[in-house]
Amino acid sequence: MASAPAYDNFIDGAWVPAASGERFENRNPADGSDLIGTFPRSAEADVERAVASARRAYDGWRLTPAPRRAEILYRAGQILTERKEQYARDMTREMGKVLKETRGDVQEAIDTGFYAAGEGRRLSGQTVPAELPNKFAMSVRAPLGVCAMITPWNFPMAIPSWKIFPALVCGNTAVIKPATDTPLSVVNFVTALMDAGLPAGVLNLVMGGGSGVGTPLLRHPDVRLVSFTGSTEVGRQIAIGCAESYKKCSLEMGGKNAMILLDDADLDLAVEAATWGAFGTTGQRCTATSRVIVDRKVAGGFTERIVERAKALKVGNGLEDSVEMGPCISDAQRRTVASYVEVGLKEGARLAAGGHLLTGGSHDRGWFFEPTVFADVKPGMRIATEEIFGPVLSIIPVDGLDEAIRVANSVEYGLSGAIFTRDINKAFRAMRDVDVGIFYVNSSTIGAEVQLPFGGVKRTGNGHREAGTTVLDIFTEWKSVYVDFSGRLQKAQIDRSD
Ligand code: NAD
Repeated sequence: MASAPAYDNFIDGAWVPAASGERFENRNPADGSDLIGTFPRSAEADVERAVASARRAYDGWRLTPAPRRAEILYRAGQILTERKEQYARDMTREMGKVLKETRGDVQEAIDTGFYAAGEGRRLSGQTVPAELPNKFAMSVRAPLGVCAMITPWNFPMAIPSWKIFPALVCGNTAVIKPATDTPLSVVNFVTALMDAGLPAGVLNLVMGGGSGVGTPLLRHPDVRLVSFTGSTEVGRQIAIGCAESYKKCSLEMGGKNAMILLDDADLDLAVEAATWGAFGTTGQRCTATSRVIVDRKVAGGFTERIVERAKALKVGNGLEDSVEMGPCISDAQRRTVASYVEVGLKEGARLAAGGHLLTGGSHDRGWFFEPTVFADVKPGMRIATEEIFGPVLSIIPVDGLDEAIRVANSVEYGLSGAIFTRDINKAFRAMRDVDVGIFYVNSSTIGAEVQLPFGGVKRTGNGHREAGTTVLDIFTEWKSVYVDFSGRLQKAQIDRSD
């Protein structure tokens, strides 16, 4: 441990250790002997300091004109662009996904920075006619105050950026608690903003676990909003905690995303998309394709081809160029994946590819699992309804579009969905009837762009959407303003004579 770098929290513009002095280790999931660094195991006292710092910085920041706030975001976007390769390498080392994907993760943060910065000259409200003479009516966006962000490990920089950039451009100050598996990427992100000239206290970083840092953040009376991305169960606890203290709360949670494959589709394209959707990021994406609901007429051919692709994928350390799929994030996550394979076998699904821990040679150093395909899966099986968050695809044969849509909608989640068909009428029916927040036609369940709303329905979200302009509704409150220049007291609805 002695030679690994020791990283600190970022509070009030300075890097500081946890008050307790305690630390945790961050290791490469592809190679457990690779210690990336130690990070502060923070607790309530650190949260107190960080929230107080954000509270102090709030008035100065909210009164800084939004276009000036945005200039700092533009600079941060430029700095992230310059450091993209280094930050992507750091991310692959701590999270495991392959370099191509971590470059994409940093790029998403860059895109979000530039997009949010554009809002510095918009943050539009409405002006509407007033119903009384000599009266002016408008709505403006007002910041909330101190916002807390609690983020997962699978998009270590992109997800924090989806929250932090819009929160800051709106005039809020923030405290972020990243996942303990991927703290370095948030250290890098905060460093970029600091180097861009963000004033002290506007953004604070406190590292540590859910109960040590997350719970005191939830309970803190000066925190006005909690923006959470993570599992549905933890999201539920966050919602309860926020309800108890009347906080605003936005939740982005789990998924069980389906790709519908009809018999008229371009099968080559569908196989390509399903391979990427199911095994990209080792299946550890909230938008991963974990179900292919396929017309029985083409189920055999599709299964044969995707099994071939799954078996050929090169699994290993994501820093190597030829590697196509990295490890699971942790031993615990890999054990969860293995336990779902047992569940699938007991339920009577046919294991068509993979299903085992990957061992031997360099695979012994990390948490690798074989790309896994279950065929002949029935819609009600647990592997067809529960989020596994690993490289496991369930192929569910159905008869036609109506059944496909029924099966797609039969789960408790509703994040993303896709259909592969050449029939425009069927594509439009699926676009309308599949119950999700994001839908793709002839593309994988993965591939959101930052300028459209991101989020889902049912147990995936609580009605908010990140990205796009909808994210502004999370990080601002609407204020309606009436200006009466009549010189007399007018009483709206009461002033009518009829
Ligand atoms: P997780 O819920 O275990 O943890 C998420 C964050 O919450 C972490 O920072 C964790 O430390 C913190 N936390 C845990 N318990 C807490 C508590 N009691 N109070 C406060 N904070 C607490 O999720 P994870 O394993 O990091 O991420 C995987 C999950 O995230 C999957 O379910 C995935 O679908 C979901 N996810 C959703 C989206 C989306 O946009 N819908 C995006 C990415 C990931």
